[in-house]
Amino acid sequence: MPELPEAETIARGLRAPVEGGTITGVSVLHADLVEMGPAALVRGITGAIIEAVGRRGKNVVLRLEGGDHLVVNLGMSGRLLWRPAHDPSPPPSHPGVVFRLRPAAQTPNPRAAPEGELVYHDPRRFGRIRLLTQGAYRTWSRSLGPEPLSRGFTARRLALELARSRTPLRSWLLDQGKVAGVGNIYASEACHVARLHPALPASEVDAAGARRLHRAIRRVLAEAVEGGGTTLRDYRTAQGWEGAYQHSLRVYGREGEPCPRCGRPVRRIVFSNRSAFYCPRCQPELPNDG
Ligand SMILES: [Zn+2]
Repeated sequence: MPELPEAETIARGLRAPVEGGTITGVSVLHADLVEMGPAALVRGITGAIIEAVGRRGKNVVLRLEGGDHLVVNLGMSGRLLWRPAHDPSPPPSHPGVVFRLRPAAQTPNPRAAPEGELVYHDPRRFGRIRLLTQGAYRTWSRSLGPEPLSRGFTARRLALELARSRTPLRSWLLDQGKVAGVGNIYASEACHVARLHPALPASEVDAAGARRLHRAIRRVLAEAVEGGGTTLRDYRTAQGWEGAYQHSLRVYGREGEPCPRCGRPVRRIVFSNRSAFYCPRCQPELPNDG
């Protein structure tokens, strides 16, 4: 499922074709994907100019002229694909919402203007599209934790937050109110780099462990953005390409394969209904185990 690096890669891939473009029409093929209902979405954004494409946590955010924000949560299998006009490639198999766009650089005659399409594609349909006013967007954004690649995310703040909770570290990292954008893949990867057991209660991470975890989260996410994200199944970039970071994963999805640091077989454990992957030697259960 898409996490911060995947959403960031999609947002970067949409900037050139989409920013400055005008939404000339919207087709909602699956109403369950649109939080406020199709009619309100069509009314709210038809004719609007997309000022900027960005990201908050795992969400791709399109800021519209006038201050509204279109927030796309990609759910389990969502994609945002840019299809230029007259694209000869086959259309997406599971389009949910199609935004027709007139690009920014245009001929003066709009009738001659070639349009492109921004297609929200989602076979499993756990994604959600929401249109938020500027005020509602700010309120929502404040409910999320800090952006881990921003300067506001510090080792000190992380240590203070960890100390308040007995939640297992892997689950703590999945809480979007603690750190925005980390999901199951990068939580396992960050715990491995930081040499912390994924089931360790958050409050038992000591000061040195919190500093390692802070560095590990930033390193893993930055590397994955550099790699264009992780494609295990559904994720594609805005241009429909696979990411490359699946080839660099240290532990996630590698049960029984050697730990890249020590060679011991990677283990998988399940808690809170989700798998976590770790090395029993590099990430001992208790700080004094190894
Ligand atoms: Zn190891």
